[in-house]
Amino acid sequence: MSRGFFNVPKAVNEPVKGYAPGSLEREELLATYKEMYNSNIDVPMHINGEEVRTGNTKNITPPHDHKHVVGQYHTASKSHVDAAIYTALATREAWSSVSWTERAAVFLKAAELLAGPYRAKMNAATMIAQSKNVHQAEIDAACEMIDFFRFNVAYMTDIFKDQPASASGIWNRVEYRPLEGFVYAITPFNFTSIAANLPAAAALMGNVVVWKPSDHQAYSAQVIIDLFKEAGLPDGVINVVYGDPVMITDTVLASPDFSGLHFTGSTQVFKNLWKQIGNNIHTYKTYPRIVGETGGKDFIWAHNSANPLQVATAITRGAFEYQGQKCSAASRAYIPTSIWSDVKKHLIAQISELKMGSPEDPSNFINAVIHEASFDKIVSYIDAAKTDKDAEVIIGGNYDKSVGYFIEPTVIVSNSPKYATMCTELFGPVMTIYVYEDTAWEHSLKLVDESTEYALTGAIFSTDRYIVEKASKALENTAGNFYINDKPTGAVVGQQPFGGARASGTNDKAGSAQNLLRWTSVRLIKETFVTPQNYKYPFLGK
Ligand code: NAD
Repeated sequence: MSRGFFNVPKAVNEPVKGYAPGSLEREELLATYKEMYNSNIDVPMHINGEEVRTGNTKNITPPHDHKHVVGQYHTASKSHVDAAIYTALATREAWSSVSWTERAAVFLKAAELLAGPYRAKMNAATMIAQSKNVHQAEIDAACEMIDFFRFNVAYMTDIFKDQPASASGIWNRVEYRPLEGFVYAITPFNFTSIAANLPAAAALMGNVVVWKPSDHQAYSAQVIIDLFKEAGLPDGVINVVYGDPVMITDTVLASPDFSGLHFTGSTQVFKNLWKQIGNNIHTYKTYPRIVGETGGKDFIWAHNSANPLQVATAITRGAFEYQGQKCSAASRAYIPTSIWSDVKKHLIAQISELKMGSPEDPSNFINAVIHEASFDKIVSYIDAAKTDKDAEVIIGGNYDKSVGYFIEPTVIVSNSPKYATMCTELFGPVMTIYVYEDTAWEHSLKLVDESTEYALTGAIFSTDRYIVEKASKALENTAGNFYINDKPTGAVVGQQPFGGARASGTNDKAGSAQNLLRWTSVRLIKETFVTPQNYKYPFLGK
């Protein structure tokens, strides 16, 4: 019961630590990495706050050293999923009724714990099991997750403040109720912060959650659960199950109390989930909310007024950071003939400098791709490009999975704008470039617009304001996050709310009030102070 209109602390972005040689944070992180790398973690499921170990385990192995086992996680049978749903529903009454200030405090505390004592552990788990370098781990697992918690609390109060007008003699108010039922969060491997945010955003708004993390993120998922526990999240609010995604999902989506899906992952999986929810629609007590952020084929388009070094730098960073495994990673570029030789020169110079190896050595810009299936898929496209007449590999193209799933940053140049790697999401360190005639720049914008089913991120480069305006208009439906003279990655919570349209998602903008609204169901309350007693309106008079 709150007795005041409380202001929450002003949300500010967590400063990104530098991890420069000799810095304290670098020493602490590398020591934590070493310790965690050389011990064995046993990751249970979490149902009603209890650790559930089934003995049906799968190994956790670093992608950059896949024969080394750092632990194992326990997987569910149907009865565990049923228990997670039961527990969530049993917790709903208490969690949905508690004052918003208590829920806010849990996540504000989680943010502070992560900024301090949990930072090295969360980053190290992400480096070890998801193969991120120090910087990529820091901007994701530490900073973005902290930002999600802080900004979402502020957005929640903004939402609560949005109230209707009241005419004389009445009082209208809306309350933002959690959904009636439970929310199902399915999360991807590639961002620890997204994994935390999908269950947390729903929980902050008073919902109870069944969370299925990616198998390839189980290590940092355990650290997230430890963090939530220490921050005071009550038992049963977020229940974690691992294992067969089809069995888990079939069980969850068969529940009449399923009330929302918070998904991030690939497009095909999401489309099938949507279909399955549609097929089950007569089962549910309420129309489920469906929020999904999915695949991308993100572009960089340059005009001949662009600075070639800036374009090359955007490609190097935008395409190859985290081995191209960001949904926002650039993977196709359109460069005009007149600047191509300069762009190419800078690009080759930059990529030649990128070191590849374990994240334990912070000088490695490139680490391993997530797993063997991904490695094999990416490699099959690279091999095809080596022999296809429409394509030429101009740098990279080598790979080796004997120790870790390492693929060199690879640039393909294709003379066909519809070449396979110009259109298909590979989710790896592969950039394909189409060089167009300068005079055909308007046509090249059409190619950007029409070559893929996706619309997640995109960037244009030009120093000519007329061109910037024309390209921005021509590409208005090609990207939910659109960048001018910058790489298309690196969205910051509170500054660039993130999400795409078309086959890239429902564009509910993670880390924004728009997303949080989806986890509420508004109740309007109208109270009349002097209640009428005569049914006759004036127009009925004689
Ligand atoms: P994925 O689709 O393979 O897996 C995502 C989640 O879905 C995992 O938890 C997985 O176990 C689960 N899953 C897989 N098959 C399922 C099924 N049949 N039923 C139910 N759940 C199932 O994706 P990933 O490899 O973990 O992540 C990479 C993908 O995610 C890429 O396509 C990337 O573009 C996308 N992504 C998008 C965004 C965004 O904001 N748009 C952010 C991150 C990742």
